[in-house]
Amino acid sequence: MIAALAVAAAAYLAVPAPVGTLARAGYYLAVAAMALAAAVVGVRLNRPRRTRAWVLFLLGLACRFVGDVSWTVLATVLHVSPFPSVADVAYLASFPLMGLGLALMVRSREPRHDRSASLDTAIIVTGTAVLAGVFVIAPILTDTTRDLFSRAITTAYPVGDLVLLAVLARLWTTSGLVPRAYRFLGTGVAFLLAGDLGYDVVFLTTGVMPNGPWFDLSYLIAYVCLAATTLHPSMRGLTEPAVVTDDRMTRPRLVVLAVASALAPTALLIEGLRGGPLLWQVIAPGSILLSTLAVTRVGGLLQTIQAQASQVAILARTDALTGVPNRRSWDAELARALAGARTDGQRPFVALLDLDHFKDFNDTHGHPAGDALLKQAAAAWRAALPHDAVLARYGGEEFTILLRGHTYQQAYTVVETLRTVTPLQQTFSAGLAAWDGIEEPSALVARADEQLYEAKRAGRACTMPAQAVHHR
Ligand code: GH3
Ligand code: MG
Ligand code: MG
Repeated sequence: MIAALAVAAAAYLAVPAPVGTLARAGYYLAVAAMALAAAVVGVRLNRPRRTRAWVLFLLGLACRFVGDVSWTVLATVLHVSPFPSVADVAYLASFPLMGLGLALMVRSREPRHDRSASLDTAIIVTGTAVLAGVFVIAPILTDTTRDLFSRAITTAYPVGDLVLLAVLARLWTTSGLVPRAYRFLGTGVAFLLAGDLGYDVVFLTTGVMPNGPWFDLSYLIAYVCLAATTLHPSMRGLTEPAVVTDDRMTRPRLVVLAVASALAPTALLIEGLRGGPLLWQVIAPGSILLSTLAVTRVGGLLQTIQAQASQVAILARTDALTGVPNRRSWDAELARALAGARTDGQRPFVALLDLDHFKDFNDTHGHPAGDALLKQAAAAWRAALPHDAVLARYGGEEFTILLRGHTYQQAYTVVETLRTVTPLQQTFSAGLAAWDGIEEPSALVARADEQLYEAKRAGRACTMPAQAVHHR
């Protein structure tokens, strides 16, 4: 259906009758009417959620069609000037209707307000508005050869186009996967805007109303693309909550933002090169707004990155199961503690704990119960240990403890105290070693590990110090 419509639209250029004749206008209207009907069929077939958005969208399209019909009747049948006329009322009514439809799509795709998307949209629209203001709207408004009413009506078109661009951009910037139907929608609205823009530019430069087939073709392509939007099954996604991905700055978005931010200085450049009247009243506020928006956007991104970075740092240091520091964090803590001990003369202790017969526990009670025990044991030990002690999961069912500011006897007692709080009468064996003042962290842990092995050999459920307890 869409392919047939697309061929019919393209064939518009080949219609033998010249532009301005009833035959040609009739062909245009016939293709437009079929596209409009197809768009209605699409909405009925796909049954999207939030029909209100789609009804407004279709009404907007229908207004456009009514405008085309009125224009043709006035210009081609009655041979009267179609501007300003009822055709303008219909054309202009299509902007708020379609705009509101698209705005409702944004609302349903984005249940929670997406600040980044709004900022990006504001950047796109501000840049475009400066360009349109300088080269389209200002020349129309200052054209004193026309009366104020007709100038106001002509101005309403680029303003309406900007509104459509704004909601279209807002729909695009909503985070989450963009449904395929959006491509048709974007292309359709783009051709609509291109037709309007081309019309304005020709009108402004030549002073006569353009009547070439290219504008009609552009509008016909827009009709067909907008019909394709509603016919594509993915159109339902345009009024469903978006599958939210993270706030990623994709390359196309970055390119669009870079281009949009450059539009205000570009307008200044063109005006300067042309030696025309410098519209600083538009360009300067536009530039200030653009840089403010850009800085706000970058600031938001940086805050997100900083928050994520600290979250990642915490995750990288933490054991996922027990929530205590992991091996990576332990290695860093121990190295730092030994470096500190070199200067303050303290003697840190390292204890290595290993649950006894834990494989049997898993075999008897199941792995999830084993996990739960590891979690509970770590929590109980953490609560029982002095505040400045470090408890880390060394791996599997092995834990390490770093103690500072204790005598040998005290360190031994601290480790032994943990037996009373270990859940489910689970026992553990432990090796304890005091830093000798020169050895590397790995050597200290290795000595504690040797003592742990000794504890296992001695029958488990005990703590083996590397030296006799009474040494200090
Ligand atoms: P021993 O008294 O000699 O230490 O006996 P053991 O069974 O505890 O020793 P072994 O090193 O042979 O087995 C350790 C077991 O710990 C094996 C594994 O099933 C269990 N284990 C290691 N990590 C986890 C874990 O994250 N969750 C659970 N549920 N079990 C674990
Ligand atoms: Mg083990
Ligand atoms: Mg074990």
